[in-house]
Amino acid sequence: MTENGFDTSCGASSGTRILVIEDEDTITEFLKTGLKYEGYQVTIAKDGVTGVDCAREMEPDLIILDIMLPDKDGFEVCRRIRRRDSDVPILMLTAKKEISDKVKGLDVGADDYLTKPFSFEELLARIRALLRRSGRAVDSTELRVVDIVLNTETREVYKGGKKVSLTPTEFSLLELFMRHPRRVFTRETLLNRIWGYDYAGDTNIVDVHISHLRDKIGDKPPCLIRTHYGVGYAFYPGEGK
Ligand code: CA
Repeated sequence: MTENGFDTSCGASSGTRILVIEDEDTITEFLKTGLKYEGYQVTIAKDGVTGVDCAREMEPDLIILDIMLPDKDGFEVCRRIRRRDSDVPILMLTAKKEISDKVKGLDVGADDYLTKPFSFEELLARIRALLRRSGRAVDSTELRVVDIVLNTETREVYKGGKKVSLTPTEFSLLELFMRHPRRVFTRETLLNRIWGYDYAGDTNIVDVHISHLRDKIGDKPPCLIRTHYGVGYAFYPGEGK
C-alpha cells in the first residue's frame, strides 16, 4: 500500500499472485527477485504442508512446485491441491530429466513442467502461457484496460478498436499507468522512470505529455488518467469513459 492507501502491487501482470513451493534458497531467491521485478506478487512456501495451506488460503493465480521437498514430494502436494477441485495452473520443477517424472507430474494434475536448471526467460514464457491458457491474466505483451489495448511488442495502441498514434514518451507513460492502476505517480517519479534520472528540465514537461496523451486517447471525465492536484497522476481503470 502506498501513503495514499492504494494497492501498488499491480505490476506487469496486474498483481498476478504466484505461489512458489520450493525449499532451495538459491532457487527461491532467484524466483522471488525475478518474478517481483516482472510485477508478480510472490509467496514462498518451503515445504509441502505449508504449500498446500498457502494454496488454499491465498488462492494464487499460478503455482510453481518443486518435486523435491523436505516433507511431502511435489506429486503428493499437487494431488492434494487438485483434490480440492482447485484448477490453479501448476508448473512443476524437476531436477530429474527422466521422462517418467514428467509423465507422473502431468498425471497428478500438473499443467506443465520445467527441468532444472532453467533460464528465467524460459520460466517466464511458461508462466505467461499457463496464465493465458487459464484465462487468469492477459499476456503481458498485451495490456488491456477498458477499451484500450496496448501491445508492448508491436508498440501499437488501440482505443475502442481504433489505432492511436502515440509518441514514444506518451506510449511509455500509458504503459506505466496501465501496469500500475490506481497508483499515484508524482511528476518527479514519472520524470525518473520515463525521461531518466538525469533529466534536468522542468517537471511541467510531464503535464504537457500527459495532456497530449489524454487528448489522443479521448480521455473524458470521469477520466482514466486523473490529476491529483499538488501530487501527480494516477490511472483508474474501469472508471473512465
Ligand atoms: Ca527442492
